[in-house]
Amino acid sequence: MSASRIAIALSLLATSIISAQQPVKTYPPNAPDKPKPPTVTPAPAGAPVPAPADAIVLFDGKDLSQWAGQDSAAPKWIVRDGYMEVMPGSGAIHTRRGFGDVQLHVEFSTPTPPKGESQERGNSGVFLMGHYEIQVLDNYDNPTYADGYSAAVYGQTPPLVNAARPPGQWQTYDIVFHRPHFKADGSVETPARVTVFWNGMLAQDNTVITGWTVHNQVARYRSHEDKLPLTLQDHENAMRFRNVWVREL
Ligand code: MG
Repeated sequence: MSASRIAIALSLLATSIISAQQPVKTYPPNAPDKPKPPTVTPAPAGAPVPAPADAIVLFDGKDLSQWAGQDSAAPKWIVRDGYMEVMPGSGAIHTRRGFGDVQLHVEFSTPTPPKGESQERGNSGVFLMGHYEIQVLDNYDNPTYADGYSAAVYGQTPPLVNAARPPGQWQTYDIVFHRPHFKADGSVETPARVTVFWNGMLAQDNTVITGWTVHNQVARYRSHEDKLPLTLQDHENAMRFRNVWVREL
């Protein structure tokens, strides 16, 4: 083939690639028609993942001394048999110390037998810096809107997979979070980013967080301190957590 024929062939190929590209469809927060993550069965649940030497252990199964409830009072959540359990209606709990950039390990299990549907089943959340929710939900045979799945950046970015284990089994999150940076005038210099492994599978891949978590609204940032407490949500479901530890980055 001559050089000119090759050039024509390449330009035709480029044109066909460009014309094949569809505009990226965007969806409003909590859109029910947004494509849902594929379900992938994770490896079987294992023993608790022990904290490395430089981790700050936030919950070792014995007490909630690292945590506070509403008005900084001692949390009303229950501690038994090596886990803590949400006391529905008692409110969220937050760490007594603040964190910025972190590697965070959390284990959770959802109530069995399951109760409710969609967002009402096994709902909690890991709120990084108290403002950025990594959703915790029972998604085992329980579909919901895409950006409300477990391991979603709630209301923003669905997880890459639905890696849910059945109710009552222990599940893991391993989260890498880089906090947002703000300019002196309070505007965003760099947004927060998050990577989440859910039961060993990549669910968020260095995802840009677009603002404070909100329900059914477009997220926006408001400036805040460099370190803020980590929060676990009370969404009126008796969720269990164990083996919570964090490494500051
Ligand atoms: Mg939640």
